[in-house]
Amino acid sequence: MRDNQDTLLHKGRRNLLVQQLRESGRFEERVLKAIGAVPRHLFVEEGLEDFAYKDTPVAIGASQTISQPSTVALETQLLNFKPGARILEIGTGCGYQSAVLFYLGAEVFSIERQAELFPRAISNLEAAGYLFLDEELAVQTSTNVNSGKFHLYLGDGFLGLPAEAPFDGIVVTCGAPHIPQKLLEQLKVGARMVIPVDFEKEAQGREKKQMLKVITRVSEGRYQAEDIGVASFVPMLEGINGK
Ligand code: SAH
Repeated sequence: MRDNQDTLLHKGRRNLLVQQLRESGRFEERVLKAIGAVPRHLFVEEGLEDFAYKDTPVAIGASQTISQPSTVALETQLLNFKPGARILEIGTGCGYQSAVLFYLGAEVFSIERQAELFPRAISNLEAAGYLFLDEELAVQTSTNVNSGKFHLYLGDGFLGLPAEAPFDGIVVTCGAPHIPQKLLEQLKVGARMVIPVDFEKEAQGREKKQMLKVITRVSEGRYQAEDIGVASFVPMLEGINGK
């Protein structure tokens, strides 16, 4: 069993990471503050804690990786939401980005397709002190957890959450083969979706790359897209795995 402490050593390492991100000049202070606050070492796989505060992706099980902190910071910043915003995240993974969104005041709706990771994200968020399942209002089933500002689902992110739409922002944390129509429909007018979209077919020995895009719904029927830069994410896949 891992002990869920956030020691001075963890905090020191986290501060160094924040300093490194700050020096890149790409991030707003409020986003850096969130990265400085959320104990990332409690979200990575046991034994990999030493890698938690390097700016690299880290394995989280089920052949998935948690995005590197600078990518989480960038996607979060690009969402540009205010406290109280209802944000849909596709790809809960280990729950780290959910915690960052929560720290910045979002009500978090998050979908994960890997049955193995879904309970792990829940226990990570509990261990880090963000999610409370013993509250009277908490609802927990094998495919859905609702507690306070967290609404976590085992499901297919291509479908979004029509029952909870529209959202003040949508962040996709896996590389999408195309921009899912259902997600576009679930954006509020004026809101943004941050999504990495494949632009290169898988070539031998070469990872697929994505263009990170910001899609703004400018009116009921009109969307505007902006390309931010090249990124590399694990693939967005259809259906639920392992159920
Ligand atoms: N935001 C996560 C990043 C995890 S990596 C974090 O902070 O840890 C991306 C995740 O997207 C993986 O866990 C993968 O299983 C998940 N994923 C891929 N396709 C998906 C889909 N269609 N719906 C929901 N999750 C998906």
